Amino acid sequence: MEIDALLVMKNRWNKQDAEQIAVGDDLAMRVYTSQILGKEADLVLHGGGNTSVKGQLTTIFGETEDVLFVKGSGWDLKTIEAAGFPAVSMDYLLKLGRLQKLSDSEMMRQLRLALMDPNAPTPSVEAILHALIPHKIVDHSHADAVVTISNTANGESLLQEIYGDEVLILPYIMPGFILAQQVAEAACNVDWEKLRGIVLMHHGIFTFHEDAKASYEAMIDLVNKAELYLDQSTNSSTIALGSYNVNKQDTLELSRLRRAAGAVFGGPVLVTFDTSNAATGFAELEVCDELATRGPLTPDHTIHTKAFAAIFENDPAAELKEFITNYKQYFDEYSDTEHSCLDTMPRYGVWRNKGMVYLAENLKRLQIVQDISEHTLKAIQFGEALGGWQPLPRKDLFEVEYWELEQAKLKTGANRGEYEGKVILITGAASGIGKACVEHFLGQGAVVVALDLSQGFEHQFKTSNVLALNCDVTDPAAVESSLLSAIQRFGGIDVLVSNAGNFSKSQNLKEMQDEDWDKSLELNLSSHMKVLRACLPYLQCGFDPAVIFVASKNVPAPGPGAGAYSAAKAGLTQLARVAALECGADGIRVNTVHPNAVYDTAIWTDEVLAQRAAHYGLTVEEYKTANVLKAEVSSADVASAISLFAGTALSKTTGSQLPVDGGHERVI
Ligand code: ZN
Repeated sequence: MEIDALLVMKNRWNKQDAEQIAVGDDLAMRVYTSQILGKEADLVLHGGGNTSVKGQLTTIFGETEDVLFVKGSGWDLKTIEAAGFPAVSMDYLLKLGRLQKLSDSEMMRQLRLALMDPNAPTPSVEAILHALIPHKIVDHSHADAVVTISNTANGESLLQEIYGDEVLILPYIMPGFILAQQVAEAACNVDWEKLRGIVLMHHGIFTFHEDAKASYEAMIDLVNKAELYLDQSTNSSTIALGSYNVNKQDTLELSRLRRAAGAVFGGPVLVTFDTSNAATGFAELEVCDELATRGPLTPDHTIHTKAFAAIFENDPAAELKEFITNYKQYFDEYSDTEHSCLDTMPRYGVWRNKGMVYLAENLKRLQIVQDISEHTLKAIQFGEALGGWQPLPRKDLFEVEYWELEQAKLKTGANRGEYEGKVILITGAASGIGKACVEHFLGQGAVVVALDLSQGFEHQFKTSNVLALNCDVTDPAAVESSLLSAIQRFGGIDVLVSNAGNFSKSQNLKEMQDEDWDKSLELNLSSHMKVLRACLPYLQCGFDPAVIFVASKNVPAPGPGAGAYSAAKAGLTQLARVAALECGADGIRVNTVHPNAVYDTAIWTDEVLAQRAAHYGLTVEEYKTANVLKAEVSSADVASAISLFAGTALSKTTGSQLPVDGGHERVI
């Protein structure tokens, strides 16, 4: 087992790439060095950093004005473009910097007033600070190594020892206007020509220069010094590693935890159980509970992860209450009347001796929590090796978690989509109706567990919102193992779309082959029972749980030669009715759709279609639309019908059957 140690930051400056940039195009160069800075997660993690370049713009009056191009909010350094650097009047920024007092909300309003283009994104909250640094280029990161050292008992003197007087070290102060003031004050007394950087304790590091490459390289060089120091002060056992195999009991407890956490959050949430070597190693530490609640790497992480972790031992759903109590105490202790308490759901937790648990309202936030947690666990253990992990006191953490700018966002909170935070499991997901369902639910904001037998189908989904697993649904062991992976990744199942199936060979009963008959029943009927049986314990903990079986028009209107298929689908329909009766008490709705003549699937090649149409003396077009509405039925139409049963539109309907066939005379 190996872990990628912090050592040593790569210099990503590429001569060829840099030479592509026209000489004198400062903004293009700013974009380039911001991107290479952003590519390093140990420097810039989820918004933990910003950059700027000073330049000039000509106004509509033909006047030249000094401006700061500074990272705009909503842009990520890794992928930032020129449009992500709004131009802000330098004059205005420097004047703001001279004010005695300015609330952060007012500062943000003023920053918008200082924009040269009213449609530009809002400048970074650290824009005034960037303006106050008298160099053309300013780079700012929350480098793990530097912040880690600053979070130790002797952090300041260690940093002093590492950097000597080439770096100015400033005590922690809340980000925003007062931080700009602190730097403004310090700026009066420093020799900017000699200084290579500024370290803000518990926050991050600034470098600056007239030249973009030099400022970037100063960042890499200074961070490397911190990383080398960490490397020399620690050894290969500093980061604990372990291993753990998830079992069924764990997944049942996870889905109960997800249910309880959702109740606290006020809607469906996603939960990931991380049993990577690093996560399990941390969870195996005797003092993991105390370490995980001491505090985060930097206070701005509290916005994503809250100020401390939950601790789980035996029964996470019940132990959640302890976190809630602690969080309320923390809120009561530091809040005043202007604060409104955030939801009390933890965003990460240690499950003792097992691994880490992450919780969030959607996958994007979940990924942020996971990334931050991974970096934090490393930092904590390095900090311990350096004399003791000592993050900011809770009061300072609270100030950032409950920053007025963050509280303002609560009031404008956007409504959640119907499927945000929901997990949909779809069988037979590689093609046809199954694939259309995957696309439909993804489009609605759900995450999807896609099961299919076809080899390599996993690669067709290019998003982490889909967990695609190769699975033979007729094999109960394969189903169980897929469910373990699914619950470990997303925490539960809310909707089962039981769709896997195939057409059997057309065969009259007198020549029916036993093997064909058995195969049809095995896949088109028995596998659905087995998948449902395996999913039920998770569905019982789901949010608005629902099951949709994909049967067939052949149930109400069978045809000759389709005995094996029709009998299996009729059995499936009956299974659905029994399931509706049995599962109703748990709030699980079970409904059935009967599609017909869905030709946009893999089985219906142009050739097969032409043959079938000719068989009935029809053109392909006539054949496809041979129904009451004279309309072609697509996989997407069936997916829409399925989503009606999956969502809240038909929340009082169970045990029903819905044709999706364009109207069929024998069904009507
Ligand atoms: Zn910062």
